[in-house]
Amino acid sequence: MTTLVHGCATHVGRVRRVNEDSALAEPPVFAVADGMGGHAAGDVASAVVVEELRALVGRPVDAAAIGRALQAADRRVRDLSDDSGRRLGAGSTVAAVALLDREGTPSWLVVACGDSRVYRVAGGRLTQLTVDHSLVQEMVDDGLLTAAEARRHPARHVLTRAVGASSRLEPDQVVLPVTPGERLVLCTDGLTNELDDGRLAELAGDGSASPQAVAEALVEAAVDAGGHDNVTAVVVDVPAAG
Ligand code: MN
Repeated sequence: MTTLVHGCATHVGRVRRVNEDSALAEPPVFAVADGMGGHAAGDVASAVVVEELRALVGRPVDAAAIGRALQAADRRVRDLSDDSGRRLGAGSTVAAVALLDREGTPSWLVVACGDSRVYRVAGGRLTQLTVDHSLVQEMVDDGLLTAAEARRHPARHVLTRAVGASSRLEPDQVVLPVTPGERLVLCTDGLTNELDDGRLAELAGDGSASPQAVAEALVEAAVDAGGHDNVTAVVVDVPAAG
């Protein structure tokens, strides 16, 4: 099994009173989740997502197991209710990667639902591996907005898919090869709304810094840049070959 090195950092930010983000960094599963919903339901929703994924740690992980965990989280988040039995209307994003090790060939399973993201950094280049499920991303895809306009658009927080909040759960899933020396960065929108890809590449591309130092530097930079939302980053390094 490939030995991964990882780091994790989160911050409530400068505006919110509650941190509704949750994170998981327990090989072979890594995830961030960004909860939403009234009556402080968001933190419970993101915690449910992480709890269902954490249950996979220590067992053989495959796409079907991840799918079942997210379906279980979807049902639990949907059913979250207050003391009088009223549904809270909570939801959560999820961006997760799991190291699969089929017949000795490692690969990444990348899963995402909502606007939390997974990036890959390799050879000094930053690549976004996930596509946001958001209204502004659809407008960008349709040529109605530029990526820069999307970052400032008033509806930029409106999601088109989320765990527990869509008519049915539709996470994106992709399997990618594991490459020695690469780094994956999982983050919530509180990070990407404050730091553009250039700044992200600069901070995440520092190969001399440990994954923990990079996770902390990313979160600190987002808080310094405004911290308008909760900020969470998980960083996973695949050791270089040899
Ligand atoms: Mn957020």
